[in-house]
Amino acid sequence: MNLLLYGAPGSGKGTQANMLRSHFGIPHIATGDMLRAEIAAGTPLGRQAQPILAAGKYVSDDIMIEVVRGRLGRPDCEPGFIMDGFPRTVPQAVALDGLMADLGKRFDRVIYLEVPVDELLHRLSGRLVCPQCQRTYPPQTSACEADGSELAQREDDKPEAVRPRIEIYLEKTVPVLDHYRGGGLVSEIDGRGTIEDISRQVLAAANGKVRA
Ligand code: AMP
Repeated sequence: MNLLLYGAPGSGKGTQANMLRSHFGIPHIATGDMLRAEIAAGTPLGRQAQPILAAGKYVSDDIMIEVVRGRLGRPDCEPGFIMDGFPRTVPQAVALDGLMADLGKRFDRVIYLEVPVDELLHRLSGRLVCPQCQRTYPPQTSACEADGSELAQREDDKPEAVRPRIEIYLEKTVPVLDHYRGGGLVSEIDGRGTIEDISRQVLAAANGKVRA
């Protein structure tokens, strides 16, 4: 099962991807997490990406396409995968079509978590994240419910980066949805509501039902 999770920063993609990974036992490919791992390891890519992430901008298409090409070719993606955070631009979407075709794969479903912009701004400002498992929490949460780790604020969840992230999403990433709409693969899910209710709808969509 190959799934594409689409939505703005703060729409709940990471939370739903974790649920889908546990449910289907397939890897969660999150390009943002991959870049943060490169930054933490101090690799040349990490050093190049760090100021771009901190400013809420996008890493270049060429770099991102190579990152995803390397990841999708790994054997753990054979039974399927959950793609999160890519493609973020139309050129990335076109390149992903080619990559998938080369690998003999196709997406079973594109799941769009729809959240209005004012709600996204509210959710991202002050959001906390577990540095171990990447789960996100509202402000003032004391520790990660899953592993007890102390929570931190992502550099790009600081107020000065939140608005640029939403602006670049509206400009560059919203057109990506049209790229997939024609194929009849998109399930639109209201990303407001309880995590449990949204998870139920996401699972139904992944299992091929258009509405839960
Ligand atoms: P995320 O965790 O998905 O919100 O990604 C965090 C940051 O990583 C983004 O704000 C971008 O700076 C960078 N990034 C992640 N995925 C991509 C992508 N597909 N294209 C360009 N930049 C990306």
